[in-house]
Amino acid sequence: SLERAPLAGRSREELAQFLAGEKAAYDELVAAGLVLDLTRGKPASAQLDLSDRLLSLPTTAVDRDGVDTRNYGGLEGIKELREMFAELLWIEPEQVVAGGNSSLVMMREVLVDLWLHGGVDSERPWSQEESVKFICPVPGYDRHFTLTDWFGIEMVTVPTDENGPDPDAVAELAGHDPSIKGIWIVPTYANPSGSIVTQEVAERLASMSTAAPDFKILWDNAYAFHHLTEEEAKSADILSLASAAGHPHRPVMFASTSKITYAGAGVAFLGGSVETVKWYTGHLGKGAIGPDKLNQLRHVQFFGSADGVRDHMRRHAEIIRPKFDSVLSVLEEQLGGLGIASWTEPTGGYFISLDVQDGTAARVIELAKGAGVALTQAGSSFPYGRDPHDRNIRLAPTFPEPAEVEKATRVVATCARLAAAEQLVG
Ligand code: PLP
Repeated sequence: SLERAPLAGRSREELAQFLAGEKAAYDELVAAGLVLDLTRGKPASAQLDLSDRLLSLPTTAVDRDGVDTRNYGGLEGIKELREMFAELLWIEPEQVVAGGNSSLVMMREVLVDLWLHGGVDSERPWSQEESVKFICPVPGYDRHFTLTDWFGIEMVTVPTDENGPDPDAVAELAGHDPSIKGIWIVPTYANPSGSIVTQEVAERLASMSTAAPDFKILWDNAYAFHHLTEEEAKSADILSLASAAGHPHRPVMFASTSKITYAGAGVAFLGGSVETVKWYTGHLGKGAIGPDKLNQLRHVQFFGSADGVRDHMRRHAEIIRPKFDSVLSVLEEQLGGLGIASWTEPTGGYFISLDVQDGTAARVIELAKGAGVALTQAGSSFPYGRDPHDRNIRLAPTFPEPAEVEKATRVVATCARLAAAEQLVG
C-alpha cells in the first residue's frame, strides 16, 4: 500500500491526494481546540513528588564535620555532599564545588571570571583578546548559545553524531585559531540529540593541541545520571583524560540535581583541577560568603549515598520512560517510511530531536501552533537561532501527562506530513 511509501517517489496525483488528506486531518485537529505544550524541558510534578521527603529535612543542622550549616562560610560546599557527587562524577572531592541551585549560573560565573581575569592558564583576561570565539556543537542547548552571545563571543558550529561532536572538525578549528577559546559539550544524553560522548571522542578533545593555551572544555553534564533504560551510560572521565594529556585545566565540569530533586531548589556542582576549583572559589568569594549549606545537608540526608542517587534516578525513569515511548511509537506510526523525517531514540536525558523535511521546521511549528500545540521555536537549538537546514525540532515529553504527550505528538506528526506535502506539491 501507499500508506508508508516515501513521498518523494509518488506521482503528482498521489501527492495531491496525500496533501488533501493531511489538510483535512489538520483542519480537524484545529477544530478540536487543543491546548498542549511540548516545549518544557522540566520535570513533571510526579517527578518532583519523588523528592518531597526533602521538605522535612534536614533533621539536624550540623553536618558530619560538626559544621553548623545555618551559618556563613564554606564557599566550596559541605564535604559530605562534595564526596557523594565526586564519586558519582568519578573525580576527587577536592575537585568539586557544591554551590547554589543552578549550574547554569556557575557557567555564567566561570565565563565572567574568564572574561574579567582569565583562567589559571591564561595569558590575559579574555576581554583583552582581540576576538574570542567558541565552538558550539549543533544541535545544542539554547541557553549555552544565548549566554555565549551575551559576551559577544562569536559562535562557530560543528556537527554532532551519536558519539558527540565531530572531533576532526573541533581539532581543526582549535588547532589553528588562537581566538578559539573553548567548546560547549553536553557529554551525556545531550540536549537535544541524546548523544553520548564516547571515550575516544573525549580522549581526542582532552589531548588535541590548541592554538589558545587556555582553551576550555565546558563539560556540562546536566544529564549524567538521567538514564531511561537499563543501558546506563557512563560519562567519559574528562578530567583524568585531560590531566594525563598534560592539559589539567582544560575541562570545567558542571552538573546539578535540578532534574534529580527539585529544578528550583537543588544543588549545582562544578568540577575541575584543584587549581580551577581554587580559582573559581577565589572569584566567587568576592561576592559570596557561602552557599545554602542547609539545602546541601538535606540532600545528603535524602540520598544517603551515591547509590541513593542512582536508585532515585530509576524512579524518575519509571515515570518518564512511557512518555518517551509514546512519542517514539507515534512518530514511527505516523512518519515511518515516508522519507520526510528522522528522529533520535535517546537512552536518557530529557529530549527527542526530530528532523523534519529540510526547509519545513518553521512551517511545522507554525502549523502546530495553529492546532494548539506549542513547540520550541524553530532554530532554537542553533547559535543565533539559525538552523541552516530549517529542519530541527526539539520535543520535550517529560512535563505533560502521558495522554497529552501522545495527542501532541500526533499533531506534530500531522503537521510534519502536511508541511512536507505542501513543499513537494509546490
Ligand atoms: N545544562 C543543560 C544541558 C540543560 O539542559 C539544562 C536545563 O535544561 C541546564 C544546564 C540547567 O541546569 P541548572 O538547572 O543546573 O541551572
